Amino acid sequence: MYISTRGNYHPVSASEAIRLGMVPEGGLFVPENIPLVDQEKIKAMAGQTYGEVAQSVLELYLDDFTGGEIRDIINESYNLVNFDHPDIAPLAKLDRETYILELWHGPTAAFKDMALQIMPRLLVKAVEKTGSEEEVIIPVATSGDTGKAALEGFKNVPGVRIIVFYPYGGVSKVQELQMTTAEGNNVAVVAVKGNFDDCQSAVKEAFADPEFNRLLASRKMVFSSANSINWGRLLPQIVYYFWGYAQLLKTGEITIGEKINVVVPTGNFGNILAGYYAYLMGLPVQKFICASNKNNVLTDVFNTGVYDRRREFYRTISPSMDILISSNFERFLFEISGHDSEKIAAWYRELHDKGFFRVDEEYRQRWQDLFIGDFTGDEETLQEIKKTYEDKKYLLDTHTGVGVRVYRNYAQRTGDQTKTIIDATANPYKFNQAVLEAIAGKEAVTGKDEFSVLQELHRITGMPIHRALKDLDKRPVVYNRVIEKSGIKQAIRDILGI
Ligand SMILES: *Cc1c(COP(=O)(O)O)cnc(C)c1O
Repeated sequence: MYISTRGNYHPVSASEAIRLGMVPEGGLFVPENIPLVDQEKIKAMAGQTYGEVAQSVLELYLDDFTGGEIRDIINESYNLVNFDHPDIAPLAKLDRETYILELWHGPTAAFKDMALQIMPRLLVKAVEKTGSEEEVIIPVATSGDTGKAALEGFKNVPGVRIIVFYPYGGVSKVQELQMTTAEGNNVAVVAVKGNFDDCQSAVKEAFADPEFNRLLASRKMVFSSANSINWGRLLPQIVYYFWGYAQLLKTGEITIGEKINVVVPTGNFGNILAGYYAYLMGLPVQKFICASNKNNVLTDVFNTGVYDRRREFYRTISPSMDILISSNFERFLFEISGHDSEKIAAWYRELHDKGFFRVDEEYRQRWQDLFIGDFTGDEETLQEIKKTYEDKKYLLDTHTGVGVRVYRNYAQRTGDQTKTIIDATANPYKFNQAVLEAIAGKEAVTGKDEFSVLQELHRITGMPIHRALKDLDKRPVVYNRVIEKSGIKQAIRDILGI
């Protein structure tokens, strides 16, 4: 069963947790017990396909789905129509101890596809199982990549409508075009004069607003979420941590039981949290390295135990990580504190009212041997992209560049030579402007539009342009609405006609 991090809701089934998306009273659904995976099972994964690994992880959590249902959903999601590589998430070797887990081979060129290709199918099945007849309304807050991945995953899915809110001027040009040219008869896209945190807070508020929920109910509608606050988004992300480890086993880079490091470029703390769940399930991990950009609220909390969002918000070249309120940190605190839901509720009240909270020293000590928090600025990230390209002939996007740089600094500081998997969260063409600047200098991009930048990057590197970004300039822009951040609720009503 799934319970609330704040202890304010009765336990629900997997289907209900996925359908609801978030605890209606505020709080996030978490599994009551975490299933264990033994070494034998992990060893067997070395001989399995991505889909088979997904099956063994997902069925541990989806108690009210049959094995056959899960298998069908996996086959419809992780295949060569939706992904352009037979491994789904191939592991590339960078050097003796560093490996890059490429999570961007899905239809929208970011790791969000790993979850958002399968999640809509899980949600439709969950709705069916709970016998609910309402239309499911999904407001999505995005820092750039979730929006397009959700638009793609939910496109024309019957019984579901999706409305995406993104920060106006706060995403890359390619990200914006991917969203504003979206197809589908059940989608809408709105730009918000604000940042990701404004979008996410407004969406969460609408979720927890009893009046709004009553209004929806009177029209036979109900909210759900495609953000990583939904357990159905996080669960599929646990899979690729087992998968990555299994690839290292398969190629003989490690032996069974050997611990590895995991580096994750982090924003909303969803991706790295999925890795932590894999660890709690038995995956041998020595260190999680939580890499941030200049919006380094997580670096501070890992080092000091104080979560303080009272700070300047920066726009960086890794916009999908421009986040100060990392929702999933709440789930992490729930686990670390041994399910102390009273504490969690109190801390998040403090964060809401005062802008910060301090985690008890006793709890902080529980993470200090496992988690490293660090950050890096735009300049260093550009240098890292250049260096990795020149030394290894491997092209990083700006987010993965943050991960690699933070890891290099860590390795240099500690001398740690443990085998390390770094999550590659986006394809470099998605952030072509900054990537081209990194490898060819500022002059290479000045005065060029994003399409000539794509071509130029291709000309220089020879790396194939991701199929999702190839014909962006030929698609008509369908959405051009820009609103104030206070207008998000009204926009939802307008779009739904209620
Ligand atoms: C969403 C995103 C991130 C941050 O992931 P979280 O799960 O929010 O921590 C990092 N990089 C890219 C490219 C993303 O799209």
